[in-house]
Amino acid sequence: MEAYINPPQSDYMDFYDVVIMGGALSGGATATLLLRQNPGIRILILEKSTKLSRRVGEATVEVSAYFMGRVLGLTQYLNESHLAKQGLRFWFTNGEVKTLAEASELGPLYQVRVPSYQLDRAAFDEEVLRRAGIAGAEILRPATVIDVQLQPGKEQTVTFRNGDGTRTVRSRWIVDASGVAAILARKEGWWKSNTEHPTAAAWSRWKGVKDWDSRELADKYPSWSRAVYATRNTATNHVIGDGWWSWWIPLKGGDVSVGVVFDQRLVRWPQEGGKLGERLKAFLMKHPVAREILVDAQFDEEDVHWRKNLAYYSTTFAGDGFVLVGDAAAFMDPFYSPGMDWISFTTSRAAALIGAQRRGEAMSALVERHNRELAKSHRCWFEAVYKDKYEYMGEFDLMSTALIFDLCLYYLGVVSRIFRYGENALLVPPFSATGIGPIFRFMRTYNRRFAEIARRRRKRRMLGKMNRAHRCLIPGFKLHSANPKLFAQGFARWARVELGELFSSSAS
Ligand SMILES: Cc1cc2nc3c(=O)[nH]c(=O)nc-3n(C[C@H](O)[C@H](O)[C@H](O)COP(=O)(O)OP(=O)(O)OC[C@H]3O[C@@H](n4cnc5c(N)ncnc54)[C@H](O)[C@@H]3O)c2cc1C
Repeated sequence: MEAYINPPQSDYMDFYDVVIMGGALSGGATATLLLRQNPGIRILILEKSTKLSRRVGEATVEVSAYFMGRVLGLTQYLNESHLAKQGLRFWFTNGEVKTLAEASELGPLYQVRVPSYQLDRAAFDEEVLRRAGIAGAEILRPATVIDVQLQPGKEQTVTFRNGDGTRTVRSRWIVDASGVAAILARKEGWWKSNTEHPTAAAWSRWKGVKDWDSRELADKYPSWSRAVYATRNTATNHVIGDGWWSWWIPLKGGDVSVGVVFDQRLVRWPQEGGKLGERLKAFLMKHPVAREILVDAQFDEEDVHWRKNLAYYSTTFAGDGFVLVGDAAAFMDPFYSPGMDWISFTTSRAAALIGAQRRGEAMSALVERHNRELAKSHRCWFEAVYKDKYEYMGEFDLMSTALIFDLCLYYLGVVSRIFRYGENALLVPPFSATGIGPIFRFMRTYNRRFAEIARRRRKRRMLGKMNRAHRCLIPGFKLHSANPKLFAQGFARWARVELGELFSSSAS
């Protein structure tokens, strides 16, 4: 059914200040920011679906949670309609691990200190869009954009299919929030696959997934149950193997989002063995932890998905008259859930750029800076955190050291700035500021080193030696302090890894 929220009062309006292509989180959030910062601005959102379906990307982390809760003003709604998240938890295995209780575990010891959420994105994104409508955006759906003509510094035109006909509107700005469709980047030839990072994913929503905190598991594995004070079930649990990881995200109401992401250089995805959902379950059931938790679970047949070559980016992020936000601008990797952090930064920057033009500021330097800083942020973020991480993420000792460093630096360099400076800090995406070079180089160094160690172990068939019966339980990350004890623990762990490598290579 067609929906037109806030239709114009005049018979026919075909000129807007901003047309937003795509009405999911990126589109709804950009509209909300623009309406708040520019009273009276005329915004049209074109969304091709009549109702947003469940979408992947349900876990927020601290920055996106801040953005949704405190910037978009949704804290009460989040607490009422979604789940409070309890950090990241990882489960490792090797040939000797037979049960859940034997798998090495990495994760928080206590409940986390800074809010984040597990979202049902179909409900959440609809709510963001609904509130953008209440704030004054015109929303037209279903409306599928079929053509865009850019004229930097002048009027842009957007043509879309709506019902049986097509319509063209003009606007000063176009915001591309079309997600993986990446309308502008593909049309203009800016879209590039990140061939250094050939990941793929399969996922579904499931019923009957065991509760990690159930009485059943506590009775079966009492000391395992008592080892952690936090709620395990509402964490993002990661059941992890060589070259792949899976997410286990509980949703309000009982369904659980479970999916696998893998590096296509390291993992051969089963091509036979039934439909995709069946192969996904069979793949996971080889891991003893998944075997325990997923044994009675059933995936939703209508909601099984597959995507290859996940990582891509646009070589242009903005011009005078258009700006790309969220997945329409780039997608890096879902490990650590950075997708909605990227949305928080790119939508904030987009609103700032459009606001500057409306105040009459000269555009060329601002556009050049926008493109330079977002390209730098995306590239450094990728190299520091994700490049070749799948080589070592299945190794308990390497991954726990990397997690300690990655999270300490995320808290120190990104999260604490946001709590200190508020939403202005969202105008500075990670790694884009000057002076960040030493941190970037440090992160790139340990990330590269751990990948190299894992490659060597794989060659010598020595992977996973620490994956049984170890626990790395982190007491929690804090703000306004560098978590120095934890950071020092990271170095101590790294030193142990290097010593272990030295002994094992001299022994072989
Ligand atoms: C396997 C995987 C796991 C992930 N896990 C996480 C996670 O845990 N946490 C996290 O933060 N991120 C995660 N992400 C990333 C997250 O899913 C995305 O970053 C996020 O959903 C992007 O939102 P968006 O609004 O930019 O795009 P989308 O959610 O893709 O929305 C785009 C909208 O544009 C509309 N549209 C498209 N084409 C047109 C058109 N021609 N005309 C009109 N409308 C159009 C679509 O209908 C849609 O509503 C994950 C991604 C993957 C692939």
